[in-house]
Amino acid sequence: MKFNYDKAKGAFWGVVCGDMLGVPLEFLHPLEREPVTTPRGGGPHNQPLGTWSDDSSLTLCLADSLCNGYDPVDIGHKFLQWKEHALWTSHDFVFDIGMTTRRALEKIKAGYPPHLSGSADEDSNGNGSLMRIIPAALYFHGESIKDFLEKIHTISALTHGHPRSLVACGIYCLLVRELIHDQDIDTAWSNTVMTVQSYYDHAPFKKEIDATFAPLLSGNLFTQNHATLRATGYVVDTLNTAVFRLLMHSHAATPWQDARGITVEPNLASTILGCVNHGGDPDTVGAVGGGLAGAAYGYDHIPDSWLQVIVRRADIASLVDVFLEKI
Ligand SMILES: [Mg+2]
Repeated sequence: MKFNYDKAKGAFWGVVCGDMLGVPLEFLHPLEREPVTTPRGGGPHNQPLGTWSDDSSLTLCLADSLCNGYDPVDIGHKFLQWKEHALWTSHDFVFDIGMTTRRALEKIKAGYPPHLSGSADEDSNGNGSLMRIIPAALYFHGESIKDFLEKIHTISALTHGHPRSLVACGIYCLLVRELIHDQDIDTAWSNTVMTVQSYYDHAPFKKEIDATFAPLLSGNLFTQNHATLRATGYVVDTLNTAVFRLLMHSHAATPWQDARGITVEPNLASTILGCVNHGGDPDTVGAVGGGLAGAAYGYDHIPDSWLQVIVRRADIASLVDVFLEKI
């Protein structure tokens, strides 16, 4: 197994870049906004240039906790510190929090054990655990598939415990794991599909694989017109869009412009911008797709002009470097 440090580092920073690029577009309808091509400030949250949101905050909290070893209780408490005391925020306050995450953190605050605090309801399948899961894919990358996925599931379930959210995080983390093991994008995806089909062959996961994730895993999703693909805050839409964009951009033999005016090229920047500009939840689809693009192309492919404007860049860099030392 070959571990590519630059790609692991890229996975982390890709999340922050996608989140930062998407923050100014949040809540704006994709057809009523100009595609973003460079970082900007403003938008509905009226945040300064380079501001990142809950997606990066909770990713950083997870990494921060894992630096001291794996302890789900500590992870839950780090998340609570973010909500209550603005731990790992851009500007010392929280301006963006999902409903399911809020409910779980309120339970943790009330004294529930963190592993029992996430909702397992079917209508609690937003993208709130997927958007922050990438440090777990990096930290546990050398473990057996069974141990790897059980830990991913536990960390998702701190806030999102329905089998659909667990499987979405599992598929995503397996793909990230393949990419940081230096597989090319097509091989990484086909290996991921094979592992997913063989591991998730039992209840309660098989039902999700056969129904909800079948279009993605069978490849049928990729025969659709991509403009019809939704990119909402539903975890399945977010995962579908991020994987679709990674594969579609990597296959662009020559640059072309899609229906949304997004230039489709086989590189990191184009892939992340494709995710951000695609649809209805730009910062989180950007963060999730950004993690994939970073893991596929590597940190060295992230534009300097993006990195330079990231708020608290030096603080993030220190944490990422310490975290990657622990892997
Ligand atoms: Mg956000």
